[in-house]
Amino acid sequence: METVQLRNFVTIPLLGFGVFQITDASMCERAVTEALKTGYRLIDTAACYGNERAVGNAVRNSGIRREDVFLVSKVWIQDTGYEQTKRSFEKTLNNLQTDYLDLYLIHMPYGDYHGSWRAMEELYEEGRIKAIGVCNFLPDRLTDLILSHRIAPMVNQMELHPFCQQTELRKLMAQYHIQPMAWAPFAEGQNQIFTNPVLSCIGKIYGKSPAQVILRWLTQEKIVAIPKSVHAERIRENFAVEDFILSEKDLQQIQKMDSGKGVILNITSLDEVYRLHNIRFEQ
Ligand code: NDP
Repeated sequence: METVQLRNFVTIPLLGFGVFQITDASMCERAVTEALKTGYRLIDTAACYGNERAVGNAVRNSGIRREDVFLVSKVWIQDTGYEQTKRSFEKTLNNLQTDYLDLYLIHMPYGDYHGSWRAMEELYEEGRIKAIGVCNFLPDRLTDLILSHRIAPMVNQMELHPFCQQTELRKLMAQYHIQPMAWAPFAEGQNQIFTNPVLSCIGKIYGKSPAQVILRWLTQEKIVAIPKSVHAERIRENFAVEDFILSEKDLQQIQKMDSGKGVILNITSLDEVYRLHNIRFEQ
């Protein structure tokens, strides 16, 4: 299992498993169980996915030691702010049936994320979270957060796939040693990514699928990827990416696929601000 070190020397696997949109609890538990059996050791959930408990059940029943699994969760907009984040964090731990998180993230750059960050700095210093970070923070808010607090985020999780490579943001993050983590590494299947001619052509050289080429590309770029699937064969396919190496030419071809913008989330659009603020749930 390839890993990378965060700025605070915490080791994080470069390949993990995401559970967004697996809302059915038994389906989620089955998928995470399958992922752990396959060898994944990082599970990415969030309070707003409504499946933290299912993830916790799968981890607990796997027989794998807690310290061998890297658990990630996120605080949603409705729970931003100092007190609310502390409360939401306790619920997350309770759902996941654990007494610490490996990585806790602010899910969106909306709401009182400064208050959340103060709470997370404290929880980090108390040893209840091994690393803290954000999601979907663009350069302006990321820099504002860094300049406003004692501890800079260790991770920024963002939409990142061949069509949206986040080149400028990653340059800024590198200056502050913020680890990139790619959500929707397959662009959620948009733009026919699984039959893309460039990725298919590269895949043919190594006997690999476009999905595997994408994950290998991210690994070689030292970007953590968290693909999601509910199908056992795809869960296994997505994990089988350590037995080949993309050439410089392959990497250059993938680089050319970048459109410079997201295909799923436009975080600066007002429609998104309203839509995301309106997502509320009982944790
Ligand atoms: P992905 O890019 O991982 O795509 C998932 C889709 O691809 C599913 O429809 C899945 O289908 C399909 N798929 C998976 N593997 C294969 C394969 N080998 N061949 C063909 N199809 C495949 O999208 P996600 O949005 O799920 O992103 C991954 C994770 O990132 C999430 O689960 C979540 O943990 C995180 N995330 C974080 C966000 C944030 O704001 N911080 C936002 C969005 C996601 P099927 O399941 O049917 O196999």
